[in-house]
Amino acid sequence: MNKLGIFMNFWEQNWNADYYKYIKKASDLGFDVLEFQAQPLLNIPDEELRNIKKAADDCGIELTYSLGLDKRYDISSDDPYIRGAGVVYLTDILKKVAVQEGKIISGVSYAGWGVPEGEINKKRRTANSIGSMKQLVKVANSLGIQYAVEVVNRFEGVVLNTAKEAVAYVEEVDSPNIGVLLDTYHMNIEEPSIRDAIHTAGKYLIGFHVGENNRTAPGRGHLNWDEIFDALKDVNYRGRIVAELFVKAGGEVGRDIYVWKDLIEEEGEEVLDAEARYMLAFERKMLEARGM
Ligand code: MN
Repeated sequence: MNKLGIFMNFWEQNWNADYYKYIKKASDLGFDVLEFQAQPLLNIPDEELRNIKKAADDCGIELTYSLGLDKRYDISSDDPYIRGAGVVYLTDILKKVAVQEGKIISGVSYAGWGVPEGEINKKRRTANSIGSMKQLVKVANSLGIQYAVEVVNRFEGVVLNTAKEAVAYVEEVDSPNIGVLLDTYHMNIEEPSIRDAIHTAGKYLIGFHVGENNRTAPGRGHLNWDEIFDALKDVNYRGRIVAELFVKAGGEVGRDIYVWKDLIEEEGEEVLDAEARYMLAFERKMLEARGM
């Protein structure tokens, strides 16, 4: 069965949080993977990162990483100084991920997260990003890390909005450790057919994020999960499936993700735990029904 994971900020309103607590919780709930926002790792000493990794190993939890790149480090920028700063910054992050023996990084880590100021030339930005990425994938490869470029909706990025664009990008970078991550929330906005998008990503699909149209748990909104899991089966997807759910307003996370009201109204950690349990059962049923 595909490894099933969850993003830590389902529970936490700030990007940095008590890693030990959530590693234990993810394990107790039955997840295989816990995903972190990668940038906070830069402020954590290596020794502490190793302790966190050990706690994860002890619980049988794999750690994965995602990030939305700050515009100061936009490796798709027309400004070569910003691109250079971005390559250095992402190299530092990759090294921190390697301290935890991380195997995959995803997110908008090939361009600034959001929409840049000024005139936007998508073609030129894509070429800029590919140039920077050719350097970064070498670093990632030497550290044993896969670089998953995540396709995001038009409000969160300019360079990769569809699976087709991501495949062209990955083919151009042409490295064994780069691939595509698709996210159902973003696909719902940009892709005419989610099934076709997954088929298009095909062999390049190395990561998958799930979340409803409003980033609640699968099965709570209007996405067609039978179609989605059928398509994953069609392309023989064996990778991790990580839920990226944001259901509470407030904090850094609420602001950055634009969550202005609680999507689960009841309060309390146990309510969120119960929702995570529901989702895990839903995903397992989908996978088992397809012999995945
Ligand atoms: Mn995502």
